[in-house]
Amino acid sequence: MMIRLKSPLVLSISLQAFVVVGLHGFRAGTRLGLPLLLSLGALLAQITNANTDALDDGVAVNTSPKTLFVIVDGIPADVIERVNTPGIDAVTKGGSYLRAYVGGELGMPTESPTVSAVGYMSLLTGTWSNKHNVRANYGIEPNYAFWDIFRVAKHQARAVTTGLFSTWTDNRTILMGDGLKAAGGYKFDFVADGFDKDQEFAPALDDVERIQAIDLHVTTLAAKTLLESAPDLSWVYLQHTDDIGHRDGDGQAMDLAVRWVDARIHDLWSAVQARQQQAVNEDWLVIITTDHGRTASDGKGHGGQSDRERTIWIASNTPRMVSPRGRSAAIVDIYPTIVEHMHFDLPDETAKKLEGQSLLSE
Ligand SMILES: [Zn+2]
Repeated sequence: MMIRLKSPLVLSISLQAFVVVGLHGFRAGTRLGLPLLLSLGALLAQITNANTDALDDGVAVNTSPKTLFVIVDGIPADVIERVNTPGIDAVTKGGSYLRAYVGGELGMPTESPTVSAVGYMSLLTGTWSNKHNVRANYGIEPNYAFWDIFRVAKHQARAVTTGLFSTWTDNRTILMGDGLKAAGGYKFDFVADGFDKDQEFAPALDDVERIQAIDLHVTTLAAKTLLESAPDLSWVYLQHTDDIGHRDGDGQAMDLAVRWVDARIHDLWSAVQARQQQAVNEDWLVIITTDHGRTASDGKGHGGQSDRERTIWIASNTPRMVSPRGRSAAIVDIYPTIVEHMHFDLPDETAKKLEGQSLLSE
């Protein structure tokens, strides 16, 4: 590994300035200028607070941990394992792939419906429905006492930049209570969402095609931001596969949808790889997962507690990801995994409430 400090920092500053212009284009009228200030703050924090790791040759180098997690909606484990997915394969080559579960513990207070918002919230808070209080995709009243991972990011002593690139706007405005005092009052530094609620976005398409177009747009903006600004912690959420599952169930259309979203993962992974080449001090954790499986009968439904609905999967670029001793990995293990990789300090109150444990081995 080469040690470069000065020139990449100069390069980063000019790129940060550039992306503000780019972001203004897709989030009309929102916080122009602020991301630049925050980014510069984060940059300075990286200089002063970066973790120092010793290399084999004994030379110390500053490393900045970065995490990208991606949720692709409603893809059963048996489907992701059967369909040809070169995008995910490229991430897990040299990395890892685990089956995992959602839905909490069967018959216990933690048992949680296998529906989307519940799955996202279990990942985001590292807890199940009995704590985060999300049990459906509508009428949601999250319990913000269980801090989401982005709130934790914003409470570090160092500045941590955050990004959200999402086909479903409610992820930000409701699940994480963006800007709400009860949820901590923080805002994301980089946001690409709102398209699902924008009547002007691709109005000629039918509902399923329109969501697919939004997925593509969100991916494009995410890849651009990852490459140019590399937020420290980013979430990409894509919905298309769940729409096809509900409409067509198991079969060729679902397989094609999975292959399509796999190409989006390729887009994101390419951006991370390009970033790694340009900023050699960055240590990237990439996690790809899904929020629930589907019914065994025809693959159209989900929400119940059957094995196929409860079984999900976690793909990652790190070879260190393993199932906890004595049980399968669970979606609630992703939060402590990110905490470990990012070297986040957790408030005691938050740490005590977590259900999962880090999947990173020694
Ligand atoms: Zn669904």
